[in-house]
Amino acid sequence: MVTLARPICPNSQRKQNADGSFVETGANCQLAGGQWWIDCEERGHDPYFSSRTYYEPVDVLDDEGFVVGSKKKPIHVKRLNTAQVALSRRINSGRGVQNKMEKAGFRRVSDFGYEEVCQYRNCGNPTNKKYTTPAFGAYCSYDHLTLIAASEQGILVPQINGVTEGTRIEQVRAKRDDMLRGAVVRHMEL
Ligand SMILES: [Zn+2]
Ligand SMILES: [Zn+2]
Repeated sequence: MVTLARPICPNSQRKQNADGSFVETGANCQLAGGQWWIDCEERGHDPYFSSRTYYEPVDVLDDEGFVVGSKKKPIHVKRLNTAQVALSRRINSGRGVQNKMEKAGFRRVSDFGYEEVCQYRNCGNPTNKKYTTPAFGAYCSYDHLTLIAASEQGILVPQINGVTEGTRIEQVRAKRDDMLRGAVVRHMEL
């Protein structure tokens, strides 16, 4: 999975005021279809980021430190909108990422100053150049690279979880390591 930045017009989302009522929004660029994210950016809607304001209750104290009331403190949070896109050559002939970038306005997270994220599903660690190959993509670790390399080639590796007996664990682990190494060794020098 590749983590990409995903455009979302802020006017497609309902925002609440401190009192719980909804904020009036302008036109939702997404309804225009086509390459709507270009217009959305030009209008200054900042579609690759979501800004939210939370209200945190804060006690109001008197001179002696007694609570005499409560106020709501606005807390602004801004984060990159992201989505995980399948990279596997078995899905959309491996064109999933390119399609999303060309047809849906997705971009690399590095375009926004963030580290590229390991392509192993839900991993989230930064990628390491040592575990990056043109054939399989960019990963954080030897484990994640080799697991994907094996799965891309339809190689099923035995699970260690569930094996309880000591010598058997060693056998399974050795076999698994062999298979994983074999899966990736044709594509890179380790
Ligand atoms: Zn917009
Ligand atoms: Zn990883």
